Amino acid sequence: MTIELLHKYLLDSSGVCTDTRKIIPKCIFFALKGDNFNGNLFTQEALDKGAFKVIVDEIAFHKNTGETIFVDNVLLTLQQLAQFHREFLSLPIISLTGSNGKTTSKELINAVLSQKFKTVATPGNLNNHIGVPLTLLSMNKETELGIVEMGANHLGEIKMLSEIAEPDYGYITNFGKAHLEGFGSIEGVVQGKTELYQFLKVHNKKIFVNANDPKQLSNSDGIERITFGTPQSDFDVNLLDSSHHLLVEFKGIKIQSNLVGAYNFANISAAIAIGAYFKVSSEEIKKGIEGYVPSNNRSQLMTKGSNTILMDAYNANPTSMLAALENFKQANGDNKIMFLGDMFELGKEAETEHQNIVDFLVENPFGKVFLVGSNFFKTKNNTSHIYQFETFDALKTVIENNSPKNATILIKASRGMALERVLELI
Ligand code: ATP
Ligand code: MG
Repeated sequence: MTIELLHKYLLDSSGVCTDTRKIIPKCIFFALKGDNFNGNLFTQEALDKGAFKVIVDEIAFHKNTGETIFVDNVLLTLQQLAQFHREFLSLPIISLTGSNGKTTSKELINAVLSQKFKTVATPGNLNNHIGVPLTLLSMNKETELGIVEMGANHLGEIKMLSEIAEPDYGYITNFGKAHLEGFGSIEGVVQGKTELYQFLKVHNKKIFVNANDPKQLSNSDGIERITFGTPQSDFDVNLLDSSHHLLVEFKGIKIQSNLVGAYNFANISAAIAIGAYFKVSSEEIKKGIEGYVPSNNRSQLMTKGSNTILMDAYNANPTSMLAALENFKQANGDNKIMFLGDMFELGKEAETEHQNIVDFLVENPFGKVFLVGSNFFKTKNNTSHIYQFETFDALKTVIENNSPKNATILIKASRGMALERVLELI
């Protein structure tokens, strides 16, 4: 089976499916394998539910009826088809990566660009070796601009994803201490993320750069840059107010976002600059940014009873944790409470990085702190405003007996901690 022929089938199909619970009739079903599943086992179910073709890599599931297509490796075939399709479409693609704020930036960029163009952006957080191909395969001849989020937790991943998506424009949100386990160190993170810059440099493409970030500037030498964030840069955006939802100004127009946290200013600025570069009018840029409301416990401002809650339980790593704490320190409120959970994937740095956060909280006493998780439990502190719990259940008992009132609350942890559960207790 050649990729050309498979691509012809793709054009005759309704799209690509990988999950028999969400089959779209006439789709091409890719029988992917994971640690806990084998898509080949679902071949018949996919056909029964109306799949047009099923791509398998176990001969036992190959039928000689033309409905199944046997390949060496289903995942590789999916990636090759995505790359072929991307070249077939030949539309401009913007790729973004970085340690923090990829999805938020991607959503904002899409909110702005979709005011003027037919866009396709990565759905949700589908930013890996499967999600990137699926995003590309969901684009069609009508798509005018693609926005592709790329995630990585080890070296070589962004290079591989760039070779599939062949972006024309790139944006790296920042370099932070995320996925240290796979990257080894912050230098490893920089090397891993700048694989996007290397790809764009070799192919004479352009990048968007936050001119406030010296590390982005120094790592992007020799690539055509479109800058934003300072008065000298191509697109200047100003932060007017960060005490509540961020209020910014661009070309004399005030834009009221639905995002909290000073760190979101970079994400908003990127979306404004990219929109302006693609000649979206300032009014449409405003409409796009103002229409975006974060979901999924990403920096969401909520109220419950007498409490105001900054829900940021979607994810955490040392950089985003510190950014959130710096921000929360400046926030309004006399009765501040923090519920902070463990940060995952830090490998041998876990102990030091958790202790760093605790040291910051010891040196900056601006509220009560409830730490939860085995890593935070092991940290040392000699103060009376920081409480440590090994498990969520231990914390639960304490909150239930002493529920916060009239408090401003920050909730932040790695996804696996599911710390949004705190909300049910207050
Ligand atoms: P993932 O690795 O899960 O794909 P992501 O890079 O897509 O994460 P988002 O989902 O946009 O990031 O945001 C996750 C959290 O990161 C936010 O809730 C916020 O706490 C923090 N964050 C967002 N933007 C920034 C930023 N520019 N700098 C530092 N932290 C940020
Ligand atoms: Mg993301």
